[in-house]
Amino acid sequence: PKSPFSAILPLKCAKKMQTQVEDSVKPIVDPHDIDPKLLQKLSYDALVFCSLRGLVVGDRNSERSGTVPGVGMVHAPVALLPMSFPESQWNQACEVAPIFNELVDRVSQDGEFLQQSLSRTKKVDPFTSRLLEIHSKMLQINKKEEIRLGLHRSDYMLDEQTKLLLQIELNTISSSFSGLSCLVSELHRSLLHQYSECIALDPNKIPTNNSVNQFTDALAKAWNEYGDPRAVVMFVILAEERNMYDQHWLSASLGEKHQVTTIRKTLAEIDAQGELLEDGTLIVDGEAVAVIYFRAGYAPSDYHSESAWKARLLMEQSRAVKCPSISYHLAGTKKIQQELAKPNVLERFLENKDDIAKLRKCFAGLWSLDESDTVKDAIERPGLYVMKPQREGGGNNIYGEDVKEALLKLQKEGTGSDAFILMQRIFPTVSHSILMREGIPHKEQTISELGIYGTYLRNEKEVLINQQSGYLMRTKVSSSNEGGVAAGFAVLDSIYLV
Ligand code: ADP
Ligand code: MG
Ligand code: MG
Repeated sequence: PKSPFSAILPLKCAKKMQTQVEDSVKPIVDPHDIDPKLLQKLSYDALVFCSLRGLVVGDRNSERSGTVPGVGMVHAPVALLPMSFPESQWNQACEVAPIFNELVDRVSQDGEFLQQSLSRTKKVDPFTSRLLEIHSKMLQINKKEEIRLGLHRSDYMLDEQTKLLLQIELNTISSSFSGLSCLVSELHRSLLHQYSECIALDPNKIPTNNSVNQFTDALAKAWNEYGDPRAVVMFVILAEERNMYDQHWLSASLGEKHQVTTIRKTLAEIDAQGELLEDGTLIVDGEAVAVIYFRAGYAPSDYHSESAWKARLLMEQSRAVKCPSISYHLAGTKKIQQELAKPNVLERFLENKDDIAKLRKCFAGLWSLDESDTVKDAIERPGLYVMKPQREGGGNNIYGEDVKEALLKLQKEGTGSDAFILMQRIFPTVSHSILMREGIPHKEQTISELGIYGTYLRNEKEVLINQQSGYLMRTKVSSSNEGGVAAGFAVLDSIYLV
């Protein structure tokens, strides 16, 4: 594997090799060959940084760590050093962020397109069907969302063979780690500063990452647009959440920077404590809610009972700003991603030809299962495809030989194929990284996925915010198909521009 860290010098020879570096003869040293003493020091300092700066998550080994803040915390799983990433593809990913934001907004306003595109999925996927049911009710009462807030994360992998930056998916609900990812960039910058004598990497090549502030600025501005100084921002959460600190970073910033109060409620609590006033104001536990920020509600398992669905409907009917609204949520589904990749569909939503070309350039191959040639090929060469249901949160996709089996099974049963899409499998470059987990550095062969945050806010008259808003690199063991950060395969990372 190619090493992105040809510039790391072993501690002992750092000084000696300085002249060679100046002569631009880069010593080829892999992070896996890093001097053991240097590794020990770096790991130690990284762990101290995480602990002092709140780069933490709930510890799976501690029972109350998902419910009580401050109990059972552990450093977030992180890469010890940033992952190299080509500057041109970084620029490309940043450049398309506002175009994707605009696209989501336009798609969300086309109720017919959403209902039509998902009509067959609806028949075989009860979860999508429930979401569509709420969406359909809103269309019937002609519900208008004038203030629209999007906190998105568009994820990409860099295809090794073609060097193309290809979109994995666009998340419009619960886009996570905006609270922690900026700290990872700071961690890496601080280590490069501190060890500049042994690691010849320039800390300024790690792009500025202001994700937490940009998310909270957008939330605060949406709150301000709503226009009730006593109203709160409500985080919709799970009863148990080990990633709570990522969320608390946002609440803390909302409070400290913007003097906006946050409340945290589960769907069940919202059902029990929520009511709508005649003018559509949502009151939960006695407080008027200006902005509803979903950090739960994207998975079927988040809806434990009918009461959770009642809560979702109640929120949608209200005049609170929803992040996301039901139509933003649906616009981020994988089926819609696949529909948007069909010829002439982007043209329905965007006018600017350059913008359309820029988005299309990062679309991977996407197909519905009624494209029989593709299904046939996927059965013959399953390793080249990923099969995806309409789900979020990781761990739901089908890979390798399982693709073949699943497709054959669907063909035999003659039903159910509308629940899935097929996607070209992307093969990113394999690198060497050191992943920190539970206080221990692990040398691994890894691949990475770059997420670009985007914030979007508009009111009835104009677009108030539309920009790229920081990034999240996730690095995982190359042998794992998925494995999210929470699942224990991936870690939070930052990037080093090359
Ligand atoms: P989710 O909404 O559950 O996060 P994703 O589409 O992001 O669904 O898929 C989850 C993970 O699966 C990604 O983070 C990535 O690691 C892997 N993955 C998804 N699509 C592809 C693909 N086309 N090629 C390679 N890996 C993929
Ligand atoms: Mg997703
Ligand atoms: Mg994903």
